[in-house]
Amino acid sequence: MSQPNKPIFERIAIIGIGLIGSSLARAVRERGLADHIAIATRSSQTLEKAEKLGLGDSYTTDAVKAVADADLVVLCVPLGTIGAVGKAISGSLKNGAIVSDVGSSKASVIKDLDGVLPDGVHLVPAHPVAGTEFSGPEAGYASLFNGHWCVLTPTAKTDTDAVKKVRALWEACGMKVEEMDADHHDQVLAITSHLPQLIAYTIVGTATDMEDDSKREVMKYSAGGFRDFTRIAASDPVMWRDVCLNNKDAILDILGRFGEDLNNLQRAIRNDEGDLLETMFSRTREIRSGIIEMGQDKPDIKPED
Ligand code: NAP
Repeated sequence: MSQPNKPIFERIAIIGIGLIGSSLARAVRERGLADHIAIATRSSQTLEKAEKLGLGDSYTTDAVKAVADADLVVLCVPLGTIGAVGKAISGSLKNGAIVSDVGSSKASVIKDLDGVLPDGVHLVPAHPVAGTEFSGPEAGYASLFNGHWCVLTPTAKTDTDAVKKVRALWEACGMKVEEMDADHHDQVLAITSHLPQLIAYTIVGTATDMEDDSKREVMKYSAGGFRDFTRIAASDPVMWRDVCLNNKDAILDILGRFGEDLNNLQRAIRNDEGDLLETMFSRTREIRSGIIEMGQDKPDIKPED
């Protein structure tokens, strides 16, 4: 467990206490990053779970109450609800408060919140790039963010001191922090996160549509590759629906390129182009080595015979 730090904020309000919100609440508490953690969520059932888990200092189903007097408000809700939640809380934010989020797409968050928040409130969009296929307050854990990247996408209007404070928060939660333009973030994440997720949904969907006998065999003989896809495809459908709707252009662009590459692969197999297939499968090893060199994954260990 890390040593408690000096609090960065007096009062943090976390709106939405699912996987990401509850992991943040746990990390903030464990590392002493705020004097008071106010928790708000939509349903009383989820709120009760959060209270039982002792994730915060105050609990409410009314986000408006949670944000009053907060120095930092972090929206940890699905992307499709960010605009509505922003509008609802805007009248209760104190002057100088920072509003941030954890959404998986960033240009849409800026579009949804820009013009909604009052003057004197600082918007610092953020995306902690860490997660699992599980949802809800029980699924979170304080070390979820350790060693992963958090991307901040401030705009030209964003207050630099506010950015520094949000950076300090995520660094104290164990993350490496980088700043970039929101559109660039959305393009990068479309290939590194959104496309793999959609491929997983599609592959597992194809198996789901198979006849019952074949489906049973798919499950029985499922080897590493397919099993990993089923894990990814077990992710929350609401979250991924919202990612598709909110990062539409970048996702359509990357799906188009992927479709072309898949067609090329199909043609190479149909035409028995062994050399081409070998070239296609060799050049991709470079990316794997690069990921390991950058410390983003452990070197592969050959399973014992
Ligand atoms: P989650 O576990 O499903 O939790 C979502 C939370 O938002 C729940 O507490 C839910 O409340 C609340 N909520 C939903 N609609 C709401 C509304 N209209 N008003 C107030 N609260 C509302 O989701 P999550 O995985 O933590 O994802 C949250 C955000 O993190 C999303 O924007 C996602 O893009 C981003 N993100 C996710 C991951 C990941 O791997 N999961 C990684 C990075 C970023 P109730 O339960 O009370 O309905």
